[in-house]
Amino acid sequence: MCGIIGYIGEREIVPVLIGGLKRLEYRGYDSAGICVINNGLNVVKKKGKIFELENQPELKEIKGKIGIAHTRWATHGEPNKTNAHPHLDCNKEIAIVHNGIVENYHSLKKLLENEGHKIISNTDSEIIAHLIEKFYSKDLEEAVIKTLKLIKGTFGLAIIHKNENKIIVAKRGSPLIIGIGEGEMFVASDVSAILDYTKKVIYLRDNEIAEITKDNYSIKNLEREKVDGKIHEIQWTINQIEKGNFEHFMLKEIFEQPEAIENILRGRLKKGKIKLSLNLDVGQINKIIIVACGTSWHSGLIGKYLIEEITQIPVEVDYASEFRYRNPIVNENDLVIAISQSGETADTLAALKEAKSKNAKTIGIVNVVGSTITQDVDCGIYLHAGPEIGVASTKAFTSQVMTLLLFALYIKQEKGFEIEKKMLEELENLPGKIREILEKSEEIKKIAENFKESSNFLYLGRGLNFPVALEGALKLKEISYIHAEGYPAAEMKHGPIALIDKNMPVVFLATKNNYSNKILSNMQEVKARGGRIVAVVNEKTSEIDKLADYVIEVPETLNYLSPIINVIALQLIAYYIANFKEIDVDKPRNLAKSVTVE
Ligand code: GLU
Repeated sequence: MCGIIGYIGEREIVPVLIGGLKRLEYRGYDSAGICVINNGLNVVKKKGKIFELENQPELKEIKGKIGIAHTRWATHGEPNKTNAHPHLDCNKEIAIVHNGIVENYHSLKKLLENEGHKIISNTDSEIIAHLIEKFYSKDLEEAVIKTLKLIKGTFGLAIIHKNENKIIVAKRGSPLIIGIGEGEMFVASDVSAILDYTKKVIYLRDNEIAEITKDNYSIKNLEREKVDGKIHEIQWTINQIEKGNFEHFMLKEIFEQPEAIENILRGRLKKGKIKLSLNLDVGQINKIIIVACGTSWHSGLIGKYLIEEITQIPVEVDYASEFRYRNPIVNENDLVIAISQSGETADTLAALKEAKSKNAKTIGIVNVVGSTITQDVDCGIYLHAGPEIGVASTKAFTSQVMTLLLFALYIKQEKGFEIEKKMLEELENLPGKIREILEKSEEIKKIAENFKESSNFLYLGRGLNFPVALEGALKLKEISYIHAEGYPAAEMKHGPIALIDKNMPVVFLATKNNYSNKILSNMQEVKARGGRIVAVVNEKTSEIDKLADYVIEVPETLNYLSPIINVIALQLIAYYIANFKEIDVDKPRNLAKSVTVE
């Protein structure tokens, strides 16, 4: 998920590797490390920022011609020096850096430990070095291939052996490129790391492995047959590449949502069964209380609808800041779920403490591995959404909703019920459907342009899509500074209707569900008062066409999954309106990404 750089050649190696890591910094990371061959393997690792790694005195001494380096975004094991990459084998002859997740690392670790290997970190990655050691007898490539055949999950990998003048790289599901120089070669997870040196690169494809020497490279598949690598000439600037040719991180992260959803499901949905490592007796749960702030609170509200409908367990959702001070009624039969992207949100942490003091069981739904919340809860589910850099949360929100749905289905399964086939199918189809809505971004941008002068907005939805209305309004507020409110559509007549006139755009979440007709009546009420309507629908009808000024058609899915699809349309509306207003959407005024104060 994070960054890799490797070098083989005559340059002074440490500045090349550290410089490359700095180019990868924009991706977000929690620790970094470097390994260079020179009379054995010289490893320096550090939790925290790259400049801290760079300031390590040992680094000054390191010389050599072959090295690899890594920025880590922890997925397994907290961010600390031991868990930072590179990881070594027992004999300290092999070093690996890994991006991705080894799903079957538990069983592989057991196998290795039974054979006497000492695994010192808590990562999933370290076992790769030990497996290569197990299989190595003079042929590094062969040992790596044997290892890759055992691994389930994703990897971008760079590997060196202290006695071999080469770097081996491999890829499955996580990017890996070779940079071609004159008498020197580079490897990286991302072209930005090597663009200062070469513009000629080869993108490895899944299940390919390459052996790289200073003058040559050879690419093979896992059957050891040679394959051709197409050389690309990079035209982009560094800045364009960091954001993947998107103008802002927020837009990039909106577009990363299909992969984010795939990442949650990977390893957790297998053969119709949901696998979550929660040490939880679901039969014992009396009541669930979700505590969260901001966007996470909205995903919690959707969670309430999902969990109550699917499991029949009552759910309360509370602002963490309210829960912590109101002496809540909680006891040991209750389960408190804390949701936070960063895992550091001060109010959520305090709410968790309150819940624990009353002996409730606790679960964290968090993106950042090893963060404080993950250490305070009894068990948890990681989002694995990758770093979220844009201040306005997008992919973390949809990942939270997906996680809450998985959790609800998990309880149902653990209570002995089957998960419907239609649901399983739709979960598989969801990333594709998200891609369909993303393909409409130009259409949504055109709609957004009509609202760049607006100063108020109303968002309306019902049921599961009421919290989506809240989230749509929050996104708009956060990045465009336009005042916006979300309401359950039926509540409009109890107050907000007084505001409706031609200057009040109203966004309706009008995808088909049990209340579609009621939503149509609400639209009539807005239309009758001259309001401008944007309707998010999954079926265009003549009635909607008559009522709505603008229609965004999203793919049809199960009602339970509709919030994930619908909110993406609203994220795009907010993004484009803010962009037309020339606001720096990645750093909106007065907001912080991780709110670590009360
Ligand atoms: N799963 C690995 C770890 O947690 C790699 C993380 C990454 O891609 O940075 O160490």
